Amino acid sequence: MNRITRTVSLRRAFIIILFTAIAVYLMRINNYLYDNFQDSLKYPEVRQRSLQHDALRKKQYAPQYTNIVIVVLDGATKSYLYDERIFPNVIRRWRKSGIRYTNAFCMLPSVSAPNYYSIMSGAPVFLHGVTNNYRRYPRHQRVEPIFNHLKRYGLSSAVIGFNWYKDIISGRTAYFPAECCEADDSVEVTAAAIRLIENRQLPTVTLLHYLAPDNSAHATGSNTSNAYRKAIVTIDRCLEDLSQHLERRYPRSLMIVLSDHGMNSDGNHGGRDRNSLNIPLYCIANDIPSGESDRRLYNLSIVPTITALLGIPVPPLSAGSMLHEIIENDRVVDYLQESIAKKQSLINALRNLDTVHFTMGEDLHASLINRDTESTEEIVHFIGERRSEILALQRIIAAVLLILFVIWLLYRTESGIPLFASLNGIMLLLMGCAMSSIESRRGLDIATALYLIVLFLLLVIYRASFLTGEFSERVNDGRYGFRLLEILLPLTIIIAGFFVPFQTPVPDDNIFAFRFYQLSFLHPFLATALLYFFNRI
Ligand SMILES: [Zn+2]
Repeated sequence: MNRITRTVSLRRAFIIILFTAIAVYLMRINNYLYDNFQDSLKYPEVRQRSLQHDALRKKQYAPQYTNIVIVVLDGATKSYLYDERIFPNVIRRWRKSGIRYTNAFCMLPSVSAPNYYSIMSGAPVFLHGVTNNYRRYPRHQRVEPIFNHLKRYGLSSAVIGFNWYKDIISGRTAYFPAECCEADDSVEVTAAAIRLIENRQLPTVTLLHYLAPDNSAHATGSNTSNAYRKAIVTIDRCLEDLSQHLERRYPRSLMIVLSDHGMNSDGNHGGRDRNSLNIPLYCIANDIPSGESDRRLYNLSIVPTITALLGIPVPPLSAGSMLHEIIENDRVVDYLQESIAKKQSLINALRNLDTVHFTMGEDLHASLINRDTESTEEIVHFIGERRSEILALQRIIAAVLLILFVIWLLYRTESGIPLFASLNGIMLLLMGCAMSSIESRRGLDIATALYLIVLFLLLVIYRASFLTGEFSERVNDGRYGFRLLEILLPLTIIIAGFFVPFQTPVPDDNIFAFRFYQLSFLHPFLATALLYFFNRI
């Protein structure tokens, strides 16, 4: 090997290693399991400001209910919980005295632990830090659960559910285990709750978790299977049993029924599809006028509403809007104001602002409700906006680099390369554009199959029309594959600059879209290997 070819080989190896390393880095930081990201906020400052606010509270309010029971059905769809044939007992109780919400949503990613913790803390995932099912332990939690807050005001609480709750709670409230993981736990969970009621030991706030719907949907790969339906029907009966015991022993109690996330037609969740995001939400107590509301809200609303109902301060990082429909008139204005003030302080901390922009309309009550909803939206969408800002800047840089790269391809590379690289570049751009429309596991499967079909067809056409002469001869030499990778890998990274952030505040919560886009990092290797295959046949 002479000196020139050795220099060329070294340069080639360096470029391939460098850009493969960048691809691996991007796949790591954008994967929702990524663990090593920066806090979005200076938490102590927000807590401090909240305490200052609490010190200025003028009025004290008595608890509106003696007990609150939060019932979480894991992965139960709204369509089943709002269907009289499947959930008849709860629906009958709602018709008599309760409210339900048709536009309630879980947080992204629409998986379990992040949403359990949003229900328990009132904070969105990017703030509470439980970003995936494996980061559920106290060392990952940036915000404390409601149970600590209740204890501070002398109120008791308990959780009944499977063993993940033990990990999440870690001794910060009473925990009653119910049959773990793959088992149908509905009877055990209900029995444990009824025992507390009958022994007159029901805490002020009790969270019951039913795992059965999620298990049966995953096991059957469907959200309409018999097993899934049966799991929900059973829970409806269990809740009727529980309600009768509650009525007898604790007549002034409130029951909140919701799901952590929804469930897709293929028995999956985690994406941005409406089936996964839209959750059922009922509030049932004997003094609530029967009704239904279609205003948009999130599972974050549980924590601030509970605090208002119990007459204690709203926790500092509680980001949800109040379920004002069930809060008594004597306190609703005060609590809306408190919720807005605390969220504004949170928004200011996130955006590094000092000022509060809020003009009151003529109708105080309506203005407060509007502002309460808007400030929740502002917090929930904050992280998406931050990501868009990062991408907007990256796109300018990527566009400039892409133009320079194309000029270099046209004038500085050997015949065959510009066409081969452009076709691959177009495919990578299409993959990036398709990414945002992939919202579920099924979408991911379809998009992956389409990608493989298009790649294969493209190479068949390419083989028939363009893989000729000098370029074909060069491809006969195995080492020329490194030359192709030297071109395709940098092109892939430049194009990735349009679609995936090179620096993330937290990992992307649109998990299926990114899983699809990961294929683009493998594309240079796959396309080169297939080109060799087609050249041989
Ligand atoms: Zn779940």
